Order: sequence, then C-alpha cells, then structure tokens
Amino acid sequence: MAAVPNDTKILEYQMFIAGEWVDAEDGAVSEVVDPSTDTTIARVPKATVGDAERAVRAAREAFDHGPWPRLNAVERGALLRAAADRIRERADELARLESMQMGKLYSEAIVDMGDTAHTFDYYAGLVQDSGGETLNVPGETMSMVVREPVGVTVGITPWNYPMLMAAWKAAPSLAAGNVMILKPASVSPLTNLELAKIFEEVGLPEGVFQVITGSGGEIGDYLAGHADVDMVAFTGSVEVGKHIMRKGADNVKKVGLELGGKSPNIVFADADFEAAIDGALVGIFAGTGEVCSAGSRLIVERAIYDRFVGELVSRAMAIKVGPALDEDSEMGPLVSQQQLDTVEKYVRIGREEGAKLATGGRRLEGRGFYYEPTIFVDVDNKMRVAQEEIFGPVLVVIPFDDEKQAVEIANDTIYGLAGAVWTKDVTKAMRVVKALRAGITWVNTYHPTYSEAPWGGYKQSGIGRELGTYGLDEYTEVKQINIDLTDAPMGVYQRGKEKNVAGSRRVVPLSDRRPFREGENKADESWVQFCENCKPGM
Ligand code: NAP
Ligand code: MG
Repeated sequence: MAAVPNDTKILEYQMFIAGEWVDAEDGAVSEVVDPSTDTTIARVPKATVGDAERAVRAAREAFDHGPWPRLNAVERGALLRAAADRIRERADELARLESMQMGKLYSEAIVDMGDTAHTFDYYAGLVQDSGGETLNVPGETMSMVVREPVGVTVGITPWNYPMLMAAWKAAPSLAAGNVMILKPASVSPLTNLELAKIFEEVGLPEGVFQVITGSGGEIGDYLAGHADVDMVAFTGSVEVGKHIMRKGADNVKKVGLELGGKSPNIVFADADFEAAIDGALVGIFAGTGEVCSAGSRLIVERAIYDRFVGELVSRAMAIKVGPALDEDSEMGPLVSQQQLDTVEKYVRIGREEGAKLATGGRRLEGRGFYYEPTIFVDVDNKMRVAQEEIFGPVLVVIPFDDEKQAVEIANDTIYGLAGAVWTKDVTKAMRVVKALRAGITWVNTYHPTYSEAPWGGYKQSGIGRELGTYGLDEYTEVKQINIDLTDAPMGVYQRGKEKNVAGSRRVVPLSDRRPFREGENKADESWVQFCENCKPGM
C-alpha cells in the first residue's frame, strides 16, 4: 500500500454518470498512485454494479430518445471540435496529470494530448465527409446503403495511454452518433474524468459520454455482458479480450479488440547502422516498454550481430531512468508494483531458460517502480521471453542468417500487431513487409503512427481496426435501402386477383361466401380468409 506524505494534497474525484458527478452508491473509493514516488495522489469512486446499471439506463435513454444521434454530423462535429480545443488549452495540465497517474514522461504525455485533440478534430471532419453509397443494381430499383450508429457503446481501456485510448474510441463513436460509457483502467482514471468535465463544459447532452471508475473484473465484466449494450471496444490484454468476446456473445454484441503484441524489429546488415540502433532503442524503451506495439523482439542479421549488440547495450546502459516529471529522465517508472513484479518474473524466467542477460535485470533502489533497461541476447525464439508479452523495458535479441529465416522468426508468434524492417534495399524491405503477418508495419523507422491510418492486429492481437475511416466504420451499422421506381405490383400471387378490385384489396362480403366443396381450389378461399381480417386502408 502506498504511503501518503503529509504535504501531498490528495485529489478527490467523482465519476460522471447520467450527467451528474457522483460517488459510488456505497461510497467505496480506490486510490490512484503516482508510480514515480509510490504515493497516493487521488481517490476515485469504486463503482458498484448498481452504478453501472444506472449508466446503461442513461446511455440507453440518451441514444433511444435523446438529441445526440438525431443531430446532424456538422452539429456533432462542432461539439467534438470544441472539446479538442479545450484539450489543447489544458494540454500542459492534462499531460502532468497523465504522467503522475501512470508514470510516462511528460515529453511523451504532452504528445499524447496533442494526438488526443487531433483525434477528435479528425473524426469531427471525417464524419461530415462520410456518406453512404448508391449501387448499380439491375431492374427499376434505386438501391443505396446508409450508415447508422450502433447504439450504446462501451469503451474499456488500459493504463498505458489513458487519454489517447479513450480518444481512439470516443471520437469515432460519438462522431458517428453513438453514446459511450468509458471504463478506464483502475490505476489511471484521472485524465478520463477530466475528459468528461470537458465534454460537460462544451455542452454534450446528458448520458452521451459517461465515465465510470471501478474494477474491470466487476464493472467491465458487467458492461461487457449487458444485453442493452450494443458494442464493446476493448484495448488490453489477450486474456481479458477473449473473456470480453465470450461475454459479448450473449447478445451478439459488436466487439472490437486491440490486444497485445510481441512485435519483431528486423535489422539487416545493410541498414543504416546508427538509425537502426536508434530505432531499436525507441522500439523497446519508449514508454518504458509498456507499449502494445513495442519492438520487443529484435532480430539482427548475424553479419553485424556482435557490433550491433555491443553498441545497443552500451547505449541502453546510458539511458537515464527517473521520475516522469523530471526533465532529465529518458525513461520513467513502470506503472505499478504489479507491473514491476511481472517484469521481475520474466527476467527470472529468461535467465532460467538460458537467455544471456547483457545489461539490466534489476529494479532501482528507492521509492517508485523503476527498472533498468534490460537486454537479453542470443535468445531462441522458442523461449518464453521471446513468445510472451512482458510489457516492460525488456528486449530480446535473436540472430538470423538470411531473409527467409528472418521472416520465419518474425511470424513465429501468436501475435500480429506490428513489425519493422531496417534495410537500404527497397525491394527486400517490401518483400519482408509483405510477408509480415501484422497490422502495423514500418520500414526504417519504429512507432510513428497517424490518426488517419488503421490501427490493429492480425492473429491474437485483435479484431477490427481503430483510427482512419476503418475506425469510423466499426462504430456504424450498415443498412441497405431498396426503392422500387415502377409502382407496379410484384405479381407473384395472382390467383385471387379477380376477387379483388385492383389495388383496393376488397374483402369479399360474408354473404358472397359459400362453404368449401370437394376438390375446390383452396388457395382462392384462403386468400379470402386472410383478407377478412384486413383493416380498411391496408
Ligand atoms: P488488462 O488487464 O486487460 O486491462 C485492460 C482493461 O480491461 C482495464 O480497464 C481493466 O480494468 C479491464 N478489465 C480487466 N478485467 C476485465 C474483465 N473481466 N472484464 C472487463 N474488463 C476487464 O490490460 P492492462 O494490463 O491494463 O493493459 C496492458 C495490455 O493492454 C497489454 O497486453 C497491451 O499489449 C495491451 N494494449 C494493447 C493496445 C493495442 O492497441 N493493441 C494498446 C495498449 C495496450 P482494471 O484496470 O480495473 O483491471
Ligand atoms: Mg497509478
């Protein structure tokens, strides 16, 4: 349990349900800890299932009867843009809060705030530009396709990019006319609560964007299984993703999953040496390695292996690890004691498996959850440290002899999120990128990504895509509309026609009826029977 120094003011937060700032119905709270100092910085409500039910009721009301889905795209876009402006105005303060609650460097958090604002701006614009289509079908028919919102959407997000992951979900969801309940990771809910304040301030209608803070195993689970929730968009671990898919099956929910990775970063001998070294370091140590797309498996051509590893290790040893808000820090702490324990466990496993520890492998002395940049060399891709996601500053380096082997090693994983290749040979780069079974790839760089491009994984790294036009599509249902242009009857069932006055569907009066006779055509008679129940004007 984190200690509370006397001089630290603890921030008290409420959560945002049905347009109101509220405590949990039973008053329970949970603490938010600054991993740079291992001190409690805030308390947030720990929601009950009753609170979650109220959020679903409010969301249902907002979607089924409220104004939001009925506004046009221009009006919705204007509100999202206003929120984006407010995020930019408050970027410094929000970035500090992000750094404090989950330990990423301020220099990284401030970039996240810019990206967050841009994501809202991007979808505000995109939705105005995204219509349906008309189809060239045979016959005298106008056939078209329109997109409509899915309904009540739930976002369940991880702690590594709290604000950005919320934006990747909320921006396309709200732009498309859905409503959203956001359940942030328990360790890092603060900036998402600030986001709810921003939406309240710019005038988003009640129940359109709600933030509920509480345990994933309880609240997240309840929302994922709820029959009145139409879609769950989840980012997090493979294990929880699978669970959410199973829960969603109960009412055949739409499910979007952005899960883990163990992404290959392939360096050929003909790569620019300095750029590749830099890319390998950024690939694994940015965000303290707590990045789903981290280049956590470095696959290096044997011809340069020794020189490359030597330089890499000396550069990693020089990385300054320190508090997230310290300007000198080059790598922040891990998010929590639990994550530190996970990293320590994997380093132990790596040693036991016979991987060679070239640098790192220890937590730093003192308060806070700091761990050394760590590199295992001469790793076999079959080892657990090469197959399982560690989600920390631990790199495994694997040598290869030729292009074919590099691709085999790269794809020998249950994951398929990202991958990169470093070479000056353009055709080789394209061959390798084409062969990678992964959704996000880079050539001669690592990590840059754009709101305009689809984000998501192959294999067990996920289902569906966030961002870009693809991300907007996920938050829509597609409806086909077919309009007959002739006014003519389809003319399939003609036998009873003479009993009818054209177009009027007159009911044959009872006095004109006679009982069935043997061998009589029953189809005619049954038509009369059916039409007896017709109401005038049908
Ligand atoms: P996690 O344990 O799966 O948690 C993610 C979210 O799910 C949290 O909000 C958590 O709530 C909630 N949750 C936990 N159990 C749940 C359940 N039974 N039902 C519904 N929700 C539940 O993942 P994490 O440790 O926070 O994040 C790390 C993982 O996320 C890594 O595997 C990483 O690769 C992945 N990730 C992927 C991407 C991507 O874009 N592909 C991006 C970032 C992270 P609590 O916090 O209350 O437990
Ligand atoms: Mg924390």
